[in-house]
Amino acid sequence: MSARSKVQRDSGMQRCSRRRAIGLLGAGLAASGLGLLPGCEAPPAVRPVPPPAPPPTSKRVWPPRASYPAPDLADACVLRQDVGIRPYRRGAVRVERDAHAIKPLIHQYGHGGAGITLAPASASDAADLLSEAEVAPPSPIAILGAGIVGMTTADLLLDRGYRVTIYTDRMTPDTTSDIAGGQFAPATVAVGGAERLTRWMRLASDYYLPRAGRGCGVERVVNFTAGGGRALRLLPDDRFSSQALTRLPIAGLEQPGSAHETLLITPPVYLPWLVGRLRERGCAFSFRRFDSASQVAALPDTAVINCLGMGSKPLYSDSRLVPIRGRLVLLKPQRLDYLFSHRNGYLFSRSDAVVLGGTYDRGTTDTTPDPRATQRILERHRRFFGSA
Ligand SMILES: Cc1cc2nc3c(=O)[nH]c(=O)nc-3n(C[C@H](O)[C@H](O)[C@H](O)COP(=O)(O)OP(=O)(O)OC[C@H]3O[C@@H](n4cnc5c(N)ncnc54)[C@H](O)[C@@H]3O)c2cc1C
Repeated sequence: MSARSKVQRDSGMQRCSRRRAIGLLGAGLAASGLGLLPGCEAPPAVRPVPPPAPPPTSKRVWPPRASYPAPDLADACVLRQDVGIRPYRRGAVRVERDAHAIKPLIHQYGHGGAGITLAPASASDAADLLSEAEVAPPSPIAILGAGIVGMTTADLLLDRGYRVTIYTDRMTPDTTSDIAGGQFAPATVAVGGAERLTRWMRLASDYYLPRAGRGCGVERVVNFTAGGGRALRLLPDDRFSSQALTRLPIAGLEQPGSAHETLLITPPVYLPWLVGRLRERGCAFSFRRFDSASQVAALPDTAVINCLGMGSKPLYSDSRLVPIRGRLVLLKPQRLDYLFSHRNGYLFSRSDAVVLGGTYDRGTTDTTPDPRATQRILERHRRFFGSA
């Protein structure tokens, strides 16, 4: 029996001894290798955790350098195609208390193409709703889902002194959050107005900026955009600089554009780091799948926060939740030191890969990789860089 099927067989357990959990871990239980505790009810007491380790070297990214290399877009550089479903919600990301639930249930899903970016902000609002529902720390809270939204919410609730159990059927590296490119930008998302967007971007940058350059997968980066328009500003303050450029400083490109500072959150680095941080602080993980709202209502915890992403659609019949499929092509890592958006797509130079995006297929949920799509994405970038 594989480790994975063993986990699934154990998923209905409601109790387990610490010894059994450790034994299972030793047997390679966790599908992700990250050590899930199947079915443990009560998480241990919250322990304060030190900030992430300081960086071995701190990198200056602003102002931009005079020149950067062009990417190598040869077929030989292709690692793979990643395909994921953006949980886009028409109107706005849902962060609200469910009026029909017997015990406090707060929905927090629908982050579209910006869940990595906005998770800390929606988590802060969800935690405020918990207080409004008069659920005080250290009450035990159930979080549904172990993507970026569920785990970030767990992190914030631990800060506020709650005890937290995350219930999920999948963990990193098998969630949509692992597919994300990881740029800090509010793309392909409906937030519900400019005021909320500004407030959320502030909350999110308050959360991520202290982590930048500390070895956990969050880095300050420069993003170039082709075209003669105004430089993009993420916030109306001095957190992220920007400037217009008469000529883009990338080898082989002659055209004007702009540059702005932003953050890159590399999911394959950041998500495992976050799992480790949560476990260190006493958050429990319980492997199980929910097929009905009544299974959620039966959880033993005082309140529930629903961070199931697209999984919320069947469970809570939300017709506003629309899948938007995205394909990314991952190339071998190259030392480009920039992100780049142009009319034919976008490119993120990460430590694990150069990520080329992307596609936006509304209403489609098939995540089978398609080699023809890889070629199309490559050709779009080659045309732009003149190497077709
Ligand atoms: C191609 C692509 C590129 C992207 N690029 C970026 C980017 O650059 N920047 C950015 O900010 N965002 C980006 N995103 C968006 C981002 O990936 C999503 O918004 C984010 O992952 C949503 O996180 P989530 O935690 O809500 O959902 P998920 O990561 O899907 O997590 C949901 C969790 O719930 C669990 N679950 C679901 N249903 C059930 C159930 N019935 N029972 C038990 N458990 C269940 C799952 O196992 C999982 O653990 C991108 C997305 C795609 C597809």
